[in-house]
Amino acid sequence: MMVAKTSSSIAANEDDVWRDDEAAPQNELVESLRARISELEDQLARFEENAADIVAMADELGAAKHRLEQTLETAEEYRRQAEELARVDPLTLLPNRREFENALERALTAAERRGSMAALLLFDLDRFKSVNDTYGHPVGDALLKFFANSIKAAIRETDHAARLGGDEFAVILTDMERPEQALCVVQRIIRTFGEPVVLDGTLVKTGTSAGISVFPRDGRDTEDLMQKSDKALYAAKSQGRGTYRFFARDIDERAKAAHTLDSNLRLAIVRDEFVLHYQPQETVGGARGRCAEALIRWRHPTEGLVPPGDFIQAAEESGLIHDIGRQVLRKACRQCAEWQNDAHGYPTVAVNISPVQFEAPDFADSVRSALAESGLAADRLELEITETVMIRDMAVFEKLDELHALGIRFAVDDFGTGYSSLAYLKKLPVDILKIDKHFVSSFLEEKADYSIVGAILKMAHSLDIGVIAEGVETDAQAEALRDLRCDGLQGFLLGRPMPADRMSAWLTAD
Ligand code: C2E
Ligand code: MG
Ligand code: MG
Repeated sequence: MMVAKTSSSIAANEDDVWRDDEAAPQNELVESLRARISELEDQLARFEENAADIVAMADELGAAKHRLEQTLETAEEYRRQAEELARVDPLTLLPNRREFENALERALTAAERRGSMAALLLFDLDRFKSVNDTYGHPVGDALLKFFANSIKAAIRETDHAARLGGDEFAVILTDMERPEQALCVVQRIIRTFGEPVVLDGTLVKTGTSAGISVFPRDGRDTEDLMQKSDKALYAAKSQGRGTYRFFARDIDERAKAAHTLDSNLRLAIVRDEFVLHYQPQETVGGARGRCAEALIRWRHPTEGLVPPGDFIQAAEESGLIHDIGRQVLRKACRQCAEWQNDAHGYPTVAVNISPVQFEAPDFADSVRSALAESGLAADRLELEITETVMIRDMAVFEKLDELHALGIRFAVDDFGTGYSSLAYLKKLPVDILKIDKHFVSSFLEEKADYSIVGAILKMAHSLDIGVIAEGVETDAQAEALRDLRCDGLQGFLLGRPMPADRMSAWLTAD
């Protein structure tokens, strides 16, 4: 038993001993495993943290990549726009000069290959500067856009249009067989643009002139054709606006003649070669006194007495009309004051004013100083303006009002030939309408003209505006006009334009 006990206790002890011996490393292992697990857990936690960071970084990288792609797309778009801008005029969106020259080059090569013709049309807007000055730049810009659209509407898909700069436009017509084919396009553009348009709430009346040269007839390369169309354009402008010219060999001669006219006009101003003739006007009732319209003539050293139709337009284009107009005003006022002092009654003098003169900022001053210098009373001066003046801006209206307030009267000359708006007539200080001689010469034969004359009279009278008929040549015309209650007559029947001394006699005659 003892043994057994002993042996069992030994066995138990041994077991214990074994257990002790075995437990130590096991605990250690557990401990180390625990430590390892906790280490791994730490690592896992760190890893998870890192993984979240990495996912966030990956997201950020993705977003950055997207942003980069967008930036690259924008940069590409800018590059495309910059390229487009280098070829296109940003205002009208038409190709610009550089692009146009390339297109012209290509069109000429194609025409050469096909054995066809091509036309180069250059356009220049009439009085664009004065539109800008009078109505302001927004209206000027709107006008350029309107013109660009008119051109686009008038040409085919295969033709080319461009804005070369400022108010200069160009068109290439391709695949032509005859030069005259260019005509219908040119005429369409000139016609569309000759109509008054409402831009930015303002009624604007301009026009355009065109010069045409044809490949291969007038030239074979771009530079040559550009020069020739330019010369044709210059010729068109100097022979009256709103028109076109084909290049012709004698155009150089005509351009030189226009240049000579300009320099001769300059000399004429300095040499005081302009004289005034006067044409009588009779007014019914005579409230306005007798009136003499001053009409300019140029006493040319070799060509005799040159009529205004031969030089006024050139003077307007060169701006010389400002100097000439000032001389006319001064001379007319002085003459009328002299008639008053010499007891020729109390006459009125009517002076023609070009629309260009109104654009000068000192126009009202020049009228005031002509009156002051001569001593003529303001109510003895009548200024004849044209309908084009009436469709201008507020600055012109203010000038009219300012001068009207002094007592000066305004007559609208050649009434019925322009674009008068009745609304303007009501607003402006207009005292008299002069019915254009075109209606007067035919109103007894043409029913339509008779109606127009009657309508002008009725309308004017209802607005309290007097009416004078121009170009009255026969007694029958005079009688019919008086029957229609026309307030005044002017024309060869009463007297032709005459020098001042002869006019003095008319003023004092019974
Ligand atoms: P307007 O002011 O309408 O002048 C009338 C024109 O008709 C004058 O021509 C006159 O000679 C002409 N005429 C007058 N009665 C008759 C008639 O019974 N029958 C016909 N067939 N014609 C008649 P003119 O002197 O050659 O002047 C032409 C235009 O030149 C004027 O037309 C006017 O617009 C312009 N003008 C004349 N003098 C001046 C001026 O000093 N300054 C400006 N800016 N323009 C002027
Ligand atoms: Mg007149
Ligand atoms: Mg007239």
